[in-house]
Amino acid sequence: MTAAPDRTAAPRPQDAPSEAASADGPTPGEIEAPAFANVDRAATALINAVPALLLVLAGWQLWNHGLRWRDVAIFLIMYVPVGLGVTVGFHRLLTHRSFKTSAWMRGALAVLGTMSVEGPVISWVADHRKHHAYTDRLGDPHSPHVDHGGGLRGAVRGLAHAHVGWLFDHQQRGARERFAPDLVGDPVVAFVDSTFVLWSLVGLAIPFGLGVLFGGTVGAGLEGMLWGGAVRIFVLHHVTYSINSLCHFFGRRRFATNDHSRNLMWLAPLSFGEAWHNNHHAFPTSAMHGMGRLELDLSGLSIAALERLGLAWDVQRVAPERQLSKAL
Ligand SMILES: [Zn+2]
Ligand SMILES: [Zn+2]
Repeated sequence: MTAAPDRTAAPRPQDAPSEAASADGPTPGEIEAPAFANVDRAATALINAVPALLLVLAGWQLWNHGLRWRDVAIFLIMYVPVGLGVTVGFHRLLTHRSFKTSAWMRGALAVLGTMSVEGPVISWVADHRKHHAYTDRLGDPHSPHVDHGGGLRGAVRGLAHAHVGWLFDHQQRGARERFAPDLVGDPVVAFVDSTFVLWSLVGLAIPFGLGVLFGGTVGAGLEGMLWGGAVRIFVLHHVTYSINSLCHFFGRRRFATNDHSRNLMWLAPLSFGEAWHNNHHAFPTSAMHGMGRLELDLSGLSIAALERLGLAWDVQRVAPERQLSKAL
């Protein structure tokens, strides 16, 4: 337990863009489109379409052979650590600095998160910090509520943009130097960022190896890659995307925030606690997103476990009285 849980209230350099953010919207220096915009779009299309198409193959296999324990095991062996790499590593550690850890752990978490194939870690963090700086107003890279029109049509357009459309529309992507100078200057994170393709491929090689190990054939390896690679990438992608789309649209609001963030209970188990998204926008630097006894937050529990093992320290928590002060 940290001695000063109220520190979560204090703006720190990593969150500073929100303090400096203009009420009129972002300045040109805060926006950075990928260097090769069309190459980036083609790669993004491929990374999203191929796993979706391979789901058909997974469905065909299910229909013919049923669910094999081996495939479930490989899916989970990949989904849980890579998912925690995104939630504990990319999000709670590197974006929000909600706890401290060693350079070794920082690198390991960044590598695991990179295997999600959600883009290079520094770009991920820059976009997400910009989302917090301009939540649900002009400048937010992926708000379902800005400039999508009204009515049902506007809602559907907004949700589609927030879910996946923003990955192709580079108008509000966060500038890395502006939103993540700390990570650009961190040799460990900068290395993982620049070797993004390598770790994405390692994330496919591991389930292939596990398939060969468990099944004894190359065919079993390919099947392992289908479940621990393609299906896992597809599910984790859409769970992450849903935090940006669904969690700014559906669910309950527990705290007063100047945005549309919501807590979506059913998404909490799959997203390892990230779906307590209204809690998170109310207290962005808190390591714990689940704030009630019944708010399951596997990422928060993992950070608490790392703390007990001496692998994480300065874990940021929000004191009950501070939670009460923002409660609706
Ligand atoms: Zn949000
Ligand atoms: Zn966040």
